[in-house]
Amino acid sequence: MPGLEDLYREIILDHYKSPRNRGELATPPAVSAQGHNPLCGDEITVYLQLDGNTVTDIKVGGSGCSISQSSASMMSQAVKGKSVDDVKAIVRRFKGMMSIDTEDDSPLPDVKLGDLEALQGVVKFPVRIKCATLAWNTLTEALAEAGQS
Ligand code: ZN
Repeated sequence: MPGLEDLYREIILDHYKSPRNRGELATPPAVSAQGHNPLCGDEITVYLQLDGNTVTDIKVGGSGCSISQSSASMMSQAVKGKSVDDVKAIVRRFKGMMSIDTEDDSPLPDVKLGDLEALQGVVKFPVRIKCATLAWNTLTEALAEAGQS
């Protein structure tokens, strides 16, 4: 019987080897934002297509370590097709799991993280937290670019 940590490692590797929603979107109509984690050399580009208040499409480009790239893949899967409010709730929930203070004292939204829970072990390695959150900070910048901050 594989333990939970093995299962988590498998999920992370699966997203690293077969990243979801990989590619680019034409800007405009999509918006994009770029993120960089100099501590590890991770690069992420997030392309967002919004229709009104809904993220109708998302693509991710970039390169870097398995944590940064698998987090980006899982993030794209989690937010695609969601409303901007739901996306912001997922961002808060994920950052909460990473023990990051979001300067918002309201209770954490009750949203499912799914595969993203595989990254919760990263919180034990402070240097890797920046790898795991890079895609999420870049997503937040892309939302701001779309006028949804
Ligand atoms: Zn990294």
